[in-house]
Amino acid sequence: METAEIQRRFLKFFESNGHTVVPSAPLPAFEDPNLLFVPAGMVPFVPYFLGQATPDWNRATSVQKCIRTPDIDEVGKTSRHGTFFQMNGNFSFGDYFKEQAIRFAWDLTTGSLESGGLGLDGDKIWATVYLDDDEAIDIWHKQIGLPLDRIVRRGQADNMWSMGIPGPCGPCSELYYDRGPDYGPEGGPEVDEDRYLEFWNLVFMQNIRGGGPAKEGYEVTGDLPKKNIDTGMGMERMAALLQGVDNMYETDQVRPIIDKASELTGKRYGVSTSHTASESHPDDIRFRVIGDHVRSSLMLIGDGVVPSNEGRGYVLRRLMRRAIRAVRLLGYDKPAMPELLPVAMERMSTAYPELKTDFERISSYAYGEEEAFLKTLKHGTTILDTAVSETKSEGGKTLSGSKAFELHDTYGFPIDLTLEMAEEQGLSVDQEGFRTLMTEQRQRAKADAAARKTGHADLSAYWQLLQEQGPTEWKAYETLETESRVIGVLKDGQSVPLAKAGEIVEVVLDRTPFYAESGGQHADAGKLVGPSLFAEVLDVQRPVKKLVVHKVRVLEGELVLDDKVEASVDPEWRLGARQAHSGTHVVHAALREVLGPTALQSGSFNRPGYLRLDFSWRSKLSDETRSEIEEVSNRAVRDDLPVAVQYMTLPEAKDFGAVALFGETYDETVRVVEIGGPWSRELCGGTHVSRSAQIGPLVLTAESSVGSGQRRVEAATGMEAYKYLARERDLVTQIAEEIGAQRGDVLERVRAILQRTKDAERELANLQAKAVSGRAAEFAAAAKQVGAVKVAAVQAPEGTKGGDVRNLAMQIRGHLPEDQPGVAAVVATAGGKASIVVAANKAAQAQHVSAQALVKAALSGKGGGNDEVAQGGGVPADQAAQLLAAVTGAISA
Ligand code: ATP
Ligand code: MG
Repeated sequence: METAEIQRRFLKFFESNGHTVVPSAPLPAFEDPNLLFVPAGMVPFVPYFLGQATPDWNRATSVQKCIRTPDIDEVGKTSRHGTFFQMNGNFSFGDYFKEQAIRFAWDLTTGSLESGGLGLDGDKIWATVYLDDDEAIDIWHKQIGLPLDRIVRRGQADNMWSMGIPGPCGPCSELYYDRGPDYGPEGGPEVDEDRYLEFWNLVFMQNIRGGGPAKEGYEVTGDLPKKNIDTGMGMERMAALLQGVDNMYETDQVRPIIDKASELTGKRYGVSTSHTASESHPDDIRFRVIGDHVRSSLMLIGDGVVPSNEGRGYVLRRLMRRAIRAVRLLGYDKPAMPELLPVAMERMSTAYPELKTDFERISSYAYGEEEAFLKTLKHGTTILDTAVSETKSEGGKTLSGSKAFELHDTYGFPIDLTLEMAEEQGLSVDQEGFRTLMTEQRQRAKADAAARKTGHADLSAYWQLLQEQGPTEWKAYETLETESRVIGVLKDGQSVPLAKAGEIVEVVLDRTPFYAESGGQHADAGKLVGPSLFAEVLDVQRPVKKLVVHKVRVLEGELVLDDKVEASVDPEWRLGARQAHSGTHVVHAALREVLGPTALQSGSFNRPGYLRLDFSWRSKLSDETRSEIEEVSNRAVRDDLPVAVQYMTLPEAKDFGAVALFGETYDETVRVVEIGGPWSRELCGGTHVSRSAQIGPLVLTAESSVGSGQRRVEAATGMEAYKYLARERDLVTQIAEEIGAQRGDVLERVRAILQRTKDAERELANLQAKAVSGRAAEFAAAAKQVGAVKVAAVQAPEGTKGGDVRNLAMQIRGHLPEDQPGVAAVVATAGGKASIVVAANKAAQAQHVSAQALVKAALSGKGGGNDEVAQGGGVPADQAAQLLAAVTGAISA
């Protein structure tokens, strides 16, 4: 049975049993700041389970796209762990409970194919239950008829579900299918979880848990007032069972990718004859990693994730890189994504048609990332191999943290790749040292750290306000001022009745004109004013959908719950914000006009006077390209194009050619902002100017790299653009005055000055060299007798250059008597380092006094040359005198 058919039967079964079919949420967990991705079908329903919101139905069913990054190391090594998979679930919100949930699962699983069931053999099914959940045992045994020896009691870690924090929890019951002796030893799921394959987990949410460890060892403190059901059936695992294949990578949605990889690499999949994944040949595991990761990458990019060095983008990057490397290890070294990704898309687009219509965008990210990574791999592998052999030749077993950091920082080589590749060559990596360096770097990159928003955020106070007071009436598009009522004041996440002067609190109003930060646009600035209140608005966010929260500092008077206030946005600020946001769209359109449609925006930020835009592009922009983009942008401003806003459904917007930028969930109706008709069409919730001329001048101020395959342009807009240009003009004026030139002649004059300086430096160096060599005879005359050898030990004047040091040593030697062993040793210091040159005359060499041996003696084995002249250096400057002493010492010895 094809996966698509399993999905159809599942949804149909629950729909006909009174469940509302809810579409899958996107993979990025936009609504929960604690998660990067949705790992289970219940996540989109969390506010309902926590009683923070009330659903329109009390039964629901869904097929949810999931990502589980913790399972990444299991992929291919077990038969059942994918990084991407689909979880089919049925949910009850205070409606049916244990008995009905078990009955549904059993009926669908074992129901005949003709009756719409999945047709599994009930005699092969095992169930686990929580230790003391006798109720569940009774249902399984007495009502379903499962024999007691196929019902297993397991402890808290396995069979008690919670979210890892205080809140709802409950026992679960899992369904396993016995795949027979070919797959492992007998004895049930306790003995072998690959032979006995878990395919469905039923969670009976009935209790409340307290604090303590996340998984095991916490206390159950009470009962939930309303009991819920949350279940998850792994669609891939069910498909593996119904398709009679050994593992989830061989099912209809993944296997074709493996076959394509096999065709490319010329290697056969299925080298080992065992059915057990853990006994597989390494090549087979690589094939499965390719199948799994290519599909996961497709699904992630499809949902708007783009490769980057952080957060979600990094997970994607890691998956892609692992897949690409597995392809390489199988012996194929051309770009593989253009071959593999279309296969994955063909398989997955039956259930997710947008993958097909969006494939140009999806594939351009994937192919670009592969290209960039292949380059990285080439550089990085050479560096790593050298480092590994160096470490080994020194007898070490651990690659240094600084090497790993260098690979990461300079070559974009991810640490996990370094770990893997070093391990393959028998070395471990000093991860501790690596992490220390990373932390230091992070602290340096302060700006980035500030932009990152992590931490375990507790949203319950916001949900409560939303439930009690309803959504904020949001007037940002219509007005800059509203009469508002204070309906919530929060201090450190707790409701408080008032805030006094000096305090910083979060304020919720019944209506607001403030734009909350989103879509890359910075929050509005402004004030709240009442009869005895003056407060400054510092930040505005929407922590949960439809609720606008203002962070304010009370400057005068008191801010009191229920009071009326006048909320007003600073009009100057808003004008600047509109200019900057429209400017961002203009620069994006200009980029695409100049570079082509693959120069897609991957992120942006704008605030009054400033904008930055990250886009996928592989090389540095030339000066000409930069100028061209700037010119196209400013021409669009001059053309005074109309800016229009329209509302439509998401599919309509896509047909309309609007660029969907993701990073946010789009509701049913989306807002499309056009500048100059089709020239710039983007889904956007931001505030904009009404005609492009209002943007004012646009100046590109910087262009840089932000991770591989991604560039960033920055620009000044409006008054800031004017000020930027004015500053540049003043600078030129000042330089001109300083050098006494006309403005138009500045460049020529500066060049001439530089040339003169260079000539003068050369002249000076010559004179110095002459002056130094002029003293050669004097130095030779001062030579001391050391045993049979005349030794001239000389410290050259500070700053004497390498070549001159050598000349001096040779000249001194020339002034020493020929018929007597003689050695000239000259040290020089420059840039904090000392170096030495030693020259020995013929008579000295005849007595086996070797210049090279003397240098090596002074530099503990380092340095190079021959018996006649040798040199070396690199020691701290304050050791110069010691070098000479060491040479003299070596001669007397
Ligand atoms: P396992 O112990 O096998 O890793 P789990 O206990 O982590 O499974 P649950 O969290 O209970 O699984 O998830 C519910 C269902 O989702 C599982 O019964 C299984 O069918 C499916 N599932 C879980 N993780 C994966 C995965 N990484 N790949 C494919 N399916 C999965
Ligand atoms: Mg698991």
